[in-house]
Amino acid sequence: MKNAKILKIIAVASVLFVVMAILPVQALTSSDETIGVPAGAMTFDELRSIISQSANKDTIENNIEYEVCVETADAWQLPPEIVEKMTKEDLNKLACLPDYFTPNQMSTEGITYNSGGQMLLDETTHVVKTIVIIDEEAYNYYASNEPWFATWEGCCAWANNILEGGDDYLEIPFGIDFQAQSQYYSYWETPDDMDYYDLLDEIDGVDPTGVGCDVIVLMTGQSGGSIVGLANRMGHHFLMNAAASGWPYYIPVANLFQHEASHLYDCSDHGYDQTYCIMSYTYQWQTRGYCTGCTTQINLNCARFD
Ligand SMILES: [Zn+2]
Ligand SMILES: [Zn+2]
Repeated sequence: MKNAKILKIIAVASVLFVVMAILPVQALTSSDETIGVPAGAMTFDELRSIISQSANKDTIENNIEYEVCVETADAWQLPPEIVEKMTKEDLNKLACLPDYFTPNQMSTEGITYNSGGQMLLDETTHVVKTIVIIDEEAYNYYASNEPWFATWEGCCAWANNILEGGDDYLEIPFGIDFQAQSQYYSYWETPDDMDYYDLLDEIDGVDPTGVGCDVIVLMTGQSGGSIVGLANRMGHHFLMNAAASGWPYYIPVANLFQHEASHLYDCSDHGYDQTYCIMSYTYQWQTRGYCTGCTTQINLNCARFD
């Protein structure tokens, strides 16, 4: 009897021990990439198959030859003395979360509208039909920051806010208007072993013109190591770290969108020089404006997607 009781206690204890041993492992794996596709989201694979059915292969081949523009890490980090003073609200504004950050101009799928006193765009605008892909780390970043319930629709609204904020200074004075195509928002569980070059290669193989669109933007939350954005110069694709408003970069993602988008108009990086321009690593987080060289480039190419 006594032995049986002891055996029972040992059995229960060992079961508990095993459960305790398993729990931390489970906790680790569940915080990894197992959140699943958010309800209502189209996956990147589904998007890819829709596009590949009608894609123009010639354009894809051209894309491969586009020059890749690389950003380096040091320039992207805000000075610690500025970060120290930032509140949660400041960070939400940097992240372009709706209710914290308000784009100057809003427009969607060919329809422009006034919303909350925002500027209505005229009909001479160069519309850039944009497909937005959001990965699981970006979704997680959004979900951990947004103050309401995290939904796929909410995440798309956030991505749209980044885009609408990001193209403000391309809309005026250039009339370039990026418009997210709501039917093509898609969700991608980006493989962890892919770096930003791999990710760009992957989206580069998908030709947005196959479905009448112009540009594909990947908003990733995956770390790019020393890189927060990568664009094909004069191409149709770029990616950006949509979580770059958090640790360790603390950068305004609207600026990041604008910087990468400008590469599509043949603007090049100025490096760490003193040119007061968003393409300068020195000033990219302090100005949304362009130098005369970039202004010329964008004016030359502003109609390239018309
Ligand atoms: Zn750049
Ligand atoms: Zn410039």
